[in-house]
Amino acid sequence: MNLVECQNVIKQYADVLDAKSKDPALMTQVLKGINLDIRQGEQIAILGQSGSGKSTLLHILGMLDEPTSGVVKILGQDITGLNEIQRAQFRNENMGFIYQFHHLLMEFSALENVAMPLLIKGVSNQEANKEAAKLLELVGLSHRLNHNPAQLSGGERQRVAIARALVNKPKLVLADEPTGNLDKQNAEQIFKLFMQLNQELGTSLVVVTHDLELAARFSRVIKLDDGLIS
Ligand code: ADP
Ligand code: MG
Repeated sequence: MNLVECQNVIKQYADVLDAKSKDPALMTQVLKGINLDIRQGEQIAILGQSGSGKSTLLHILGMLDEPTSGVVKILGQDITGLNEIQRAQFRNENMGFIYQFHHLLMEFSALENVAMPLLIKGVSNQEANKEAAKLLELVGLSHRLNHNPAQLSGGERQRVAIARALVNKPKLVLADEPTGNLDKQNAEQIFKLFMQLNQELGTSLVVVTHDLELAARFSRVIKLDDGLIS
């Protein structure tokens, strides 16, 4: 079984913000029929010009957005058929999402941010903190457990966000330009961390990047061109 299966995924947005009608003349097609299978353990880099639909595709795979039409299956489950609570549970169980900007909770410490997905799942405080500390050690931040995001550098914040995305040991990690705002050294460190997870836990990776050199080090490169895989 493929980890992810996309069949003819189409996404269109209304050109006018309050447009209620589905009149095609008032819609812009951003994804124009994506077919994509991802096997467990694959490392995929997504390349494509700005506006080509990379984030839209990643958001659909990460269940943050729904396709207008087409089928998306993750672990054999048709994710478009789930209700909101089921979606949240499925996401929390199976995937980690890393945004371009870290989206950490500013009023919580690094440890609390990373423990959050476990607490949501009903894991005890003590157990969640223990796991979170382990992940923060893995990303090289054992000395920053009690710092708030405001007290961390950009690279450190992104590493906290990665630790949070990984704390549930997801089968699929999706990252939208995770190193886009980092210097080369920090970007390299984060790349290595992804690869380490892939090797040690078999985590599948789907990473949007602008960096051709970085992309070439993934097992598969997908290029989006105007809403289609080219
Ligand atoms: P990329 O990540 O490759 O730069 P995006 O997926 O963010 O591209 O966007 C693709 C196109 O869809 C762009 O033209 C963008 O303006 C448009 N778009 C993205 N999100 C929305 C939205 N919520 N409403 C309307 N148009 C959108
Ligand atoms: Mg984008």
